[in-house]
Amino acid sequence: MMQKTGPVLLLVGGGHAHLGVLADWIKHGSPRGRTMLITPHRHTRYSGMIPGTVAGEYAIDEGTIDLAPLAKRAGAELVLDRCTAIDPSHRSIETENGSRIEFDYCSIDIGGVAQAREVLGEDPRLLDVRPIASFIPRLASKREGAGSDPGHIAVIGGGAGGVELAFAMRRRFGNRHPRVTLIAGEAGVLDGFSRRARTLARRALRRADIALVEQDARLKAGRLFAGMHTLEPVDLLIASIGGAAPVWPGRGGLAVSRGGFIAVDRHQRSVSHPHILAAGDVAMRQDSNIPRSGVHAVHSGPVLAANLRRLLDGGDGGGGALRSYRPRPASLYLVSTADGKAIASYGIFAAHGRWAGWLKRWIDTRWIASFAKLDGRV
Ligand SMILES: Cc1cc2nc3c(=O)[nH]c(=O)nc-3n(C[C@H](O)[C@H](O)[C@H](O)COP(=O)(O)OP(=O)(O)OC[C@H]3O[C@@H](n4cnc5c(N)ncnc54)[C@H](O)[C@@H]3O)c2cc1C
Repeated sequence: MMQKTGPVLLLVGGGHAHLGVLADWIKHGSPRGRTMLITPHRHTRYSGMIPGTVAGEYAIDEGTIDLAPLAKRAGAELVLDRCTAIDPSHRSIETENGSRIEFDYCSIDIGGVAQAREVLGEDPRLLDVRPIASFIPRLASKREGAGSDPGHIAVIGGGAGGVELAFAMRRRFGNRHPRVTLIAGEAGVLDGFSRRARTLARRALRRADIALVEQDARLKAGRLFAGMHTLEPVDLLIASIGGAAPVWPGRGGLAVSRGGFIAVDRHQRSVSHPHILAAGDVAMRQDSNIPRSGVHAVHSGPVLAANLRRLLDGGDGGGGALRSYRPRPASLYLVSTADGKAIASYGIFAAHGRWAGWLKRWIDTRWIASFAKLDGRV
């Protein structure tokens, strides 16, 4: 079945946008040629449900998607390996296990890489939320290694992920009540969100007895500082400071933009090598400023799928026939406060309530369930 003739499409990474590609192949039939998906883990973890898993709202495997049955139904060959290098001109990649895989077209959706140690400094208490796939087991082993519950947890990062993790840690330890501090950085909590959403987040943090420090964190000589002050003693440091770009795409000669992210045009094609496409956090659109988030990675998936299908079926059309992902003027963000409620933020509108918590759980679980339906389990 895998020996179909025609072009070889290599999907690198089981990220949110590639889930959309697999879904498209299942719904509309796979395109001409052979599709291979290379990703290190069979299960991909949905980041939107990580804080809920930490808080104990979801069982450990509830927020994961099994790529094996999805790939099978999509007619794609799943290779559990990690891409380590690319030669875009000779159309090949190298992998951690020492393989060399050739392709005609390649699509890269591998997210961002951990950068806490480079940005903050080395420390045995430090746990980077990235790689997202292994965060939950790494958190569990850190806690087992510590032997007892932490007395003071510091969460570093004022974005939606950091805020949700601070609330999740508060909820997880319940009445054992360690100190929890959120170090949101100088940009402050929920930078980029509306003033109302930020006010609601500050208020909810206060109510949950989570200290908020709006200064940059750094580690120096084994001590955690924010601004001029030390926050010691701290037992556990969780960093959710955004992902850096992996180095291998730029090293291989793909055009990259500021920070090393793969520079793509409005069709998600590399601006230097148009037979290579990229989407999600690893890519940076050159024609517009699209923030890196799961929402945009998910929404760009169907466009990526349509463009890959067109290229594989031989309709390059010089780019004119390809589709472009245009984000809506505002996206709905639901930031869980781990007490059954969430802060809903849409443009300048924001509200905090139980209905938003319910909506978040409904959207997240429905999204996960849609893949179980696609892979034929439901
Ligand atoms: C705690 C937390 C909560 C968040 N909540 C939200 C939210 O509610 N809403 C939102 O919009 N965003 C949220 N985000 C941001 C969101 O996680 C990212 O923007 C999103 O995961 C990016 O998706 P992606 O498709 O780019 O990559 P990812 O989802 O990170 O997937 C990358 C995939 O590529 C694989 N991979 C990595 N390296 C390689 C390699 N070298 N070779 C092959 N495969 C590789 C990985 O194993 C993984 O399967 C959150 C982030 C965190 C940390």
